[in-house]
Amino acid sequence: MKEQEYRQRAEEHLLHVYNRFPVVFERGEGVYLYDTQGREYLDFASGIGVMAFGYHDKEYGDALKAQIDKITHTSNLYYHPPMAGAAEKICKVSGMDKVFFTNSGAEAVEGALKTAKKYAYLRDKKAGHEIVAMENSFHGRTVGALSATGTAHYREPFLPLMDGVRFARFNDFASVEAQVTERTCAVILETVQGEGGLYPAEPEFLKRVRGLCDERDILLILDEIQCGMGRSGAMFAFQKYGVTPDILTTAKALGAGVPVGAFLVTQRVADASLQPGDHGTTYGGNPLVCAAVDKTIELMERRAIPEHVEKVTPYLLQRLDGMKDRFSFIRDRRGMGFMQGLQVDLPVGDVVKKALEEGLVVLSAGHDVVRLLPPLVIEKQDIDRMAEILTKVFTDLS
Ligand SMILES: *Cc1c(COP(=O)(O)O)cnc(C)c1O
Repeated sequence: MKEQEYRQRAEEHLLHVYNRFPVVFERGEGVYLYDTQGREYLDFASGIGVMAFGYHDKEYGDALKAQIDKITHTSNLYYHPPMAGAAEKICKVSGMDKVFFTNSGAEAVEGALKTAKKYAYLRDKKAGHEIVAMENSFHGRTVGALSATGTAHYREPFLPLMDGVRFARFNDFASVEAQVTERTCAVILETVQGEGGLYPAEPEFLKRVRGLCDERDILLILDEIQCGMGRSGAMFAFQKYGVTPDILTTAKALGAGVPVGAFLVTQRVADASLQPGDHGTTYGGNPLVCAAVDKTIELMERRAIPEHVEKVTPYLLQRLDGMKDRFSFIRDRRGMGFMQGLQVDLPVGDVVKKALEEGLVVLSAGHDVVRLLPPLVIEKQDIDRMAEILTKVFTDLS
């Protein structure tokens, strides 16, 4: 009854923009979540790719608590100790030179787009630049980020959005080339498309887009909000391709559970784009989230999280491919590292719902993909348990 009451009270006043699953998660421990009735759920969603270390990590929690006891917010008009460590660490692990911390992924994309526009404005001594984005992409729900999101049903009710975005087909270099004009300031793409259905960029495609950007003095923005921070099996997915961005966006697992995102730029872009007065945020990169970012990266490096993902991925693929061989309605298995999808000829919502009933949290992507974004600390036995539950779900639904 308690669970029902929480749900009713919440629905009474929260704007109805989510059809939430009928579960009230109260706490988490490791890779398990617990509802208000004490039921246990194996978590292969990690709060949409956020909870890199799972739940209730002691070292991470202690670092946050210590910061709360000192100061949680100062605004960006002043310095505070955690900003230095957080900035230094994210630049080091990404290979980028400068960072701007935001409160969300969408805001990181907004900042990236503004940076590219300002760069081209200084380059051409005039405004009026265009962005090339990908079909089937996802960059967030704010107006600028939505303008670069190539999914019609997210955009439709909000048109007209930001002007000057042209869409090309992902993994189709000729279509990117065809959309580039002398007004183009940036090409934005996800190194691994997440919401669109777990499509990794093809190495040749990414290399050629990089080459085109170099040739035409266009900035390459890689959106690694979902695939970054260790999930791919490298700290950032682009590091597996040997291709580097001019602007990088990250968020989700960046603070492992606090609302923080970032866009990062190379020194060359930093020197020729945003200047004091061009951009800002009240909360962005406050002491609390910077303490989280600093600790997250420290733990990822010390615990060799990307290496762990890389090492365990073949086993995850083996179990998922086993399911694909067994059930004919599983059409494809795609992804990179701990970012995997099963494309199914079943109502994907039913799979996600049934899995939850069986004690397994998974996500969907697009309209027909079961998406797995587990905490980055899962071990073989967690994968076995996931495969066991998902196999039961698929058996029951077939
Ligand atoms: C989640 C996501 C975003 C948006 O992040 P929010 O924090 O929800 O604003 C942008 N790009 C990609 C690739 C994402 O996965």
